[in-house]
Amino acid sequence: MKYLFKFLFLFLFFSFFFIKKSVSNEPIIVYSARSDQLIKPILDKFTEKTGIKINLFTTKANALLARLDNEGSNTSADLIITNDAGNLWLMKKKNLLLRISSKKLEKNIPSHLRDPNNFWFGLSVRARTIFYNRNKVNVSELSTYEDLGSEKWNRKLCLRTSKKIYNQSLIAMMIYELGEEKTEKIIKGWVKNLATNVFPSDTKVLKAIASGECHVGIANSYYLGRLISKDPKFPVDLFWANQKENGVHVNISGGAISKFTKNKNNTVKLIEYLSSDEAQKFYANEDFEYPVNLNVNVNSIIEKWGLFKQNPINVSKAGELQVKAIKLMDRAKYK
Ligand code: FE
Repeated sequence: MKYLFKFLFLFLFFSFFFIKKSVSNEPIIVYSARSDQLIKPILDKFTEKTGIKINLFTTKANALLARLDNEGSNTSADLIITNDAGNLWLMKKKNLLLRISSKKLEKNIPSHLRDPNNFWFGLSVRARTIFYNRNKVNVSELSTYEDLGSEKWNRKLCLRTSKKIYNQSLIAMMIYELGEEKTEKIIKGWVKNLATNVFPSDTKVLKAIASGECHVGIANSYYLGRLISKDPKFPVDLFWANQKENGVHVNISGGAISKFTKNKNNTVKLIEYLSSDEAQKFYANEDFEYPVNLNVNVNSIIEKWGLFKQNPINVSKAGELQVKAIKLMDRAKYK
């Protein structure tokens, strides 16, 4: 009899333990606008460490936003990953995100790279700056984004389309700093200086600078990192814009937790992990971005670009002023 009780007790204990464990081990559902190869290895590492499984769905940023909008409170998303602060800002505005209070996230991520009310968090820094053909431009000729609208760059400038959110965010920040009138004048100058039609990608802008089709342009720095990693002699260099002013325009790839998550505790653990030294090393090395976590060094290919001053304006401003930026670019005939 005594053994039977003991057996029963152990059986109950273990079945309770097992059920409890299986509940807390529900997979975390991640919706990501960051491509598979740039996020999956970090998520796998998290699973390896914690035993918590993750189901990953990747898609384009616009499709991601539409899906979350359609699914509303029925969404199965726990964690949402995007490539731009503008999208995160919009999701917050649409009331799709959960406010997180986490000491770890606050410690690991500088305040201008996360939502002021903790609805979303930057996980990598993307610097949008000036690039030039080193055989055609003397670095002393370069200074600011504003200057690219001046006479001296007539027919020498290449730009990516204004439809890309990266440019909308850049113009939004300029509006915030300089006001609409001044910004519009600058953008009109850019358009006048274009050497050729706008390009569909940053990589195409950099290749046009390399070929001499234009002398200068604007792009995110990691695109040059990718090109240099394939061809160390690629004839384009980076110039950190606006260092005597407020600094380089930075954006983020970031993460947020769905307001409708049923797996909050584990999802918080995951986003905290993404901001940790270990995961940030991956962010820094995999795609030549800058880690948000200042404990982590940058990739050796981009180390030679040196330190730069980041514009300290909170990246959420890019979202707030996005509509104004789009209208302004339209008025300036920036296609
Ligand atoms: Fe990109």
